Amino acid sequence: MEGPPASACLIFAALALGLIVTTGAVQGGVFKELTTPLGHQIMRLAKSAEMRSFIDASVDPCDDFYGYACGNYVSINAATPDKDTNIGQVMFASYLRRARQILNQPRMSSDRPMETRVKYFYESCLDTSSLRTNQRSQLLNVLREFGGMPAVEGSSWDEFQFDPIETMAQLLRRYGKLTLLGVYVAPDFTNSQINRLYLGQRDDLAVRDEATSLAKKVELKMRLQDQLGLSEQLARKTAIEIIDLEAELSRSVLDRGMDRDPRLRSRLTMLSNMTEAYGSALNLTRFVKSWLGHDYILPVYENVPGYLFQLKKTLLTTSNRVLANYMLSSLLRDFEIQADERKQEEICAERITMLFPDVIDHLVYYSLEQQSPHLPTDLKLLWIDLKAAFEEMLSSAELEWLDEKTRGDVVEKLRGMSFEVAGEKPVNFEEQYGRMVVSSADYYGNVRRLLAVQASNLRTDLMRDTRSENYYDGVIESPFYLTESNLVVLPASYMQHRYFWDDVYPVALKYGTLGFILSHEMAHGFDDLSRLFDSKGNLNDTWSNQAKVGFNLIKECLVEQFSELRYSNLRLPKLEAQGENIADNVGVRISQAAYRKWLEEAKTLDSETLPHMSQTPEQLFYLGVAQSMCSGILIDRRPAFLRNSVHPPNESRVFAMMSNSRSFAEAFQCGNQTKMNPPHRCLMY
Ligand SMILES: [Zn+2]
Repeated sequence: MEGPPASACLIFAALALGLIVTTGAVQGGVFKELTTPLGHQIMRLAKSAEMRSFIDASVDPCDDFYGYACGNYVSINAATPDKDTNIGQVMFASYLRRARQILNQPRMSSDRPMETRVKYFYESCLDTSSLRTNQRSQLLNVLREFGGMPAVEGSSWDEFQFDPIETMAQLLRRYGKLTLLGVYVAPDFTNSQINRLYLGQRDDLAVRDEATSLAKKVELKMRLQDQLGLSEQLARKTAIEIIDLEAELSRSVLDRGMDRDPRLRSRLTMLSNMTEAYGSALNLTRFVKSWLGHDYILPVYENVPGYLFQLKKTLLTTSNRVLANYMLSSLLRDFEIQADERKQEEICAERITMLFPDVIDHLVYYSLEQQSPHLPTDLKLLWIDLKAAFEEMLSSAELEWLDEKTRGDVVEKLRGMSFEVAGEKPVNFEEQYGRMVVSSADYYGNVRRLLAVQASNLRTDLMRDTRSENYYDGVIESPFYLTESNLVVLPASYMQHRYFWDDVYPVALKYGTLGFILSHEMAHGFDDLSRLFDSKGNLNDTWSNQAKVGFNLIKECLVEQFSELRYSNLRLPKLEAQGENIADNVGVRISQAAYRKWLEEAKTLDSETLPHMSQTPEQLFYLGVAQSMCSGILIDRRPAFLRNSVHPPNESRVFAMMSNSRSFAEAFQCGNQTKMNPPHRCLMY
């Protein structure tokens, strides 16, 4: 969502009322002034104005609830050729502003060692003149540690000295770079207490269609020209070769819509067996030994044999020059400093957030907690309410297919599930980054040392029993459920108020937004993949046959329902994996049940409506759910979205979850002939 930030909306609303709220248009000033009853009223007016601005009143909510709730969203927050729009993005932009404020504070003696380090790192990034002068030579130095990049070195590059397996291993060992092979250290899916090495598919390869491929080629070509000074012609040729190679490998990556049972993609074996299977071209024993610096004799997961066979073929049929260009291009992004219209401070704050997602989350969490000390407790209480509501749903007599024993297992897992906000836990940063030297005058040196520390941490993780609950694999922008830990994680950016919730907004909105999001993640624990895992996060399918048959029938109902839906006249793909649809289907009913319970017990409902809005509390709840999903995606990008996104389009998600919910039809008094109140529903749990 583009447009004014929340504080600007408030000022606008206040001006509309003829009130001068504050002289300083800074957030802190507004917060202070708005803690009075009049201030509360202004904030409620502002929320009402925002919600009404998204509604298209010409659409009947019983006919198309997304069209009603979000119909005018894109006229205010239009997608652009650069990006799509949604509320998550707005919250993340605000999170980055907060990170920037923290990084801009002068270093103080009270700063913790980690805070001092990230501030030094940030300072080194602000030093633009040295950044520009040194960029090419620093990058070339790193590339030459690996024999240099053929595209740069030209005829002096020695093709016969190049050893693909060794280069792949050393890029991973020194700078943590994944190239052709996916190398992951993750809990064993049959025993979450121990870490295993997963060797094979690169899960992040995403060149699946022509449009993505073309965009990636253009982006890489620019990078090769800017960072390495290649001629346009050479940059284009090199970019095409690299992206085509990636596309070839991508085609062997398992499809997202397939059955996600890990037993179907990985099997435990010994490195020697893998080396026998894939031969000397893909000698994995040698690769692992070179990466770790010693032999490795414990079992490893062979992760997607189809991918490994393709990789072997690629290694045998691709020239060393192209392989080397491909592998070394993995370092370009780390040594890039974007030059766009933004201030250097913004660019650097974003860069530091990407480099230290866990540290920045922790600092932002701390600042948000200072601002609203009651918030962590509120969230925990909400979580407890949601859990209780789900447990009650599970005991319903309507769930005939869920026999007593299986129900008991489900409840046990639910009770054992935990929740946290990313950044809330004190992390032992000294253990992770303690050895790292950071200089305020050497940005590229800092990057190199950070990559080296992360590379070394990956090797250490393999030797450890568990990954010490560190779930960071980059910036956390969306909530998720972690199967191996039976844990729900909410991004720190979701704690910011004014977006989803506020103390003065109707409680309906808190349950409709945060409540729904947490319930959706909670329900993931019982979707078609995670239901196979027990409360300890181990693959342990204890369900009775009767329960499995019942579950699969409802899942099939969802498969059929979604495959009938359309998005801009495109049919939604028919997918076997239904995790997201199950999570929505169950999640909205959990949060609605929890909210209804809150309503029954509430002493007063005075604040459960919004000024100038006629919606009942229950209607506000559903409006909150739908409006948290308003989004804008350019028509041209929709086919690629359908192919690549794990979620169906939000239009379809809102349609399916609301039309599957009886309470929705009751809340909006939808007649039997309306689309949102169909005679048949798919109801999971
Ligand atoms: Zn989900």
